[in-house]
Amino acid sequence: MSIVLFSAYRSFPSEVRGLGQWALGMLSLMLTGVLLCTQGVLAEAAILFVGNTTMMASAGLMLIGTQKFYGRVPSWWWLGLAWAIGMCCLIGWYLITQNFALRVAVFSLLSLSFYVPQLVLVVLRGERHFSSWFFGALLLVQSLVLLLRAVVAMSGGVGTSNASNGPIQSIYLLTANFMTLLMAVGFMAVATRRLQTVMEHRSNSDPLTGVLNRRGFAAAYARELALMKRHAQPMTLLSIDLDFFKAINDRYGHAVGDQVLVHAARTTVTALREIDHVARFGGEEFIVLLPQTTAERASAAAQRIQALLCAARGDDVPAYTVSIGIASQLASNDSMEAVMARADAALYRAKAAGRDRYEVA
Ligand code: GH3
Ligand code: MG
Ligand code: MG
Repeated sequence: MSIVLFSAYRSFPSEVRGLGQWALGMLSLMLTGVLLCTQGVLAEAAILFVGNTTMMASAGLMLIGTQKFYGRVPSWWWLGLAWAIGMCCLIGWYLITQNFALRVAVFSLLSLSFYVPQLVLVVLRGERHFSSWFFGALLLVQSLVLLLRAVVAMSGGVGTSNASNGPIQSIYLLTANFMTLLMAVGFMAVATRRLQTVMEHRSNSDPLTGVLNRRGFAAAYARELALMKRHAQPMTLLSIDLDFFKAINDRYGHAVGDQVLVHAARTTVTALREIDHVARFGGEEFIVLLPQTTAERASAAAQRIQALLCAARGDDVPAYTVSIGIASQLASNDSMEAVMARADAALYRAKAAGRDRYEVA
């Protein structure tokens, strides 16, 4: 699993975070297993101190990976503090009392403190998707087993060593082997789902400005058309073209031209509603889809965009204006191409009439 996670870490885009920590966590878990195999070869104390360190590092790294994945500040401090508590417990084991039940209870609760926050994150921030249910269910099972083990230990039911018999010991030893591996599979499932979302977003958006590209726009249009059929409300397209953009490129350079395009895209998005769709159709031409909007209300939106483009310009963007063509779609059997052709015709009229204005088809 460590190799699988590491390979994903190397090949997934940087938006999918936390894979590196999970890969290290699995590696650390493997080291714990190797250490346990050296019983009788290495001194018991060495195995106890190092083995518990690698085991806690493993669970702690998983927590940190999951926190990074969900965009939370990683709790390195807690990993350090929990380790210090664990080590104090082991020192007490040698210096004060060799109480196995107490040791089991302390380490079970410390491990629990690495899994419960992950479960909370999945519940609060996880996408409503099978992968999140799967990962969350595994975290829940792991947390319950650890809680049960801690409670049973405190009531004296774990015997005097890991080799003691008893149902709770058996459940723990059985699940401890498989659960961590399964949780890594669970994390890979949510990470792969995130990869899919990131890739879909990339294939639908314009890399320079971040608004939709043609493909993303066509998908948004298809969704809105389906809604329009149900609600029988018009929708309106704006065709927006920057005025004399070639002159801006010639005068300030292509890089500044790109900044102007980014500014135009961001400002247009700001001027509109959450439900509106903004797309860049190559070059310096943007298309906006305003669902449930008449041409009259779209004219107000066009004015708002033009006013904001003037007002919101910083020092790093030279002055520029846009011309806008507006066309409404009243019937659902009209095609996107036909409405866009009408919006373009209106745009050319705005250009011919002197630019920095809008025209309705
Ligand atoms: P008009 O007012 O008639 O629209 O004039 P215009 O100069 O804006 O139109 P024209 O079509 O002559 O020029 C568009 C320019 O946009 C030409 C091209 O170099 C530039 N352009 C196209 N894509 C990009 C881009 O991604 N970045 C930059 N900086 N410029 C681009
Ligand atoms: Mg232009
Ligand atoms: Mg153009």
